[in-house]
Amino acid sequence: MARPSVLIVEDEREIADLIQFNLVRAGFDATTVHRGKDALEAIRKSPPDIVVLDLMLPDQDGLEICRRIRASAEGSRIAIVMVTARGDEADIVTGIELGADDYIPKPFSPRVLVARVKAVLRRSGESRPGNTKRIQIGDGRLSIDPERHVTLIDGKTVELTLTEFGMLHFLAQRPGFVRTRDQIIAAVHGRNVVLSSRTVDVHMTALRRKLGDMGALIETVRGVGYRLAEGEIASAE
Ligand code: CA
Repeated sequence: MARPSVLIVEDEREIADLIQFNLVRAGFDATTVHRGKDALEAIRKSPPDIVVLDLMLPDQDGLEICRRIRASAEGSRIAIVMVTARGDEADIVTGIELGADDYIPKPFSPRVLVARVKAVLRRSGESRPGNTKRIQIGDGRLSIDPERHVTLIDGKTVELTLTEFGMLHFLAQRPGFVRTRDQIIAAVHGRNVVLSSRTVDVHMTALRRKLGDMGALIETVRGVGYRLAEGEIASAE
């Protein structure tokens, strides 16, 4: 099997070297660029499987690069992990809404970096269930059937409101990926539901409670949004 390829975009050379060293040791084929304007050029010439993108670059905003990658022809197939300074929650939220898959706050340990990059790569390679496919998570204990609008835990029906069901289904479509409040609102919008970013939290609390012990699968990502913990995911016809 070919080694997964990673493009590192990081202006601080010591950090870039550290990232490259650890990813190469973990089996990646790694290339580094130090300037934002070289990133898009490198991606066009040879699209990598994943981009590790520092958001603070001297010549270009990392968020703009993220947006441009997603807008490019090859961009939808490339996983993006942002590297951010701690406390940059607003940038993280924007980055995820622009299509980044995950983020790593600085300073990070090489072990965490490698684990996150591998996780994102693994998840983006998985086939995603469509909007109407039944989703099973948590070793199959939690089952979500969007066509029949039914949620089951251990075979028993859980009564959810339209909003709760919409939120759960949205998170369950990509387990392990953080979703911002605005993304959640957009996803349930059109289900005859009106939701504000403040009421997302209220509905999420109610949803967790109704899911009982499975409610712990819904993780709050502070300052960013929510994520459904990775579990066994199997989609059935
Ligand atoms: Ca930087």
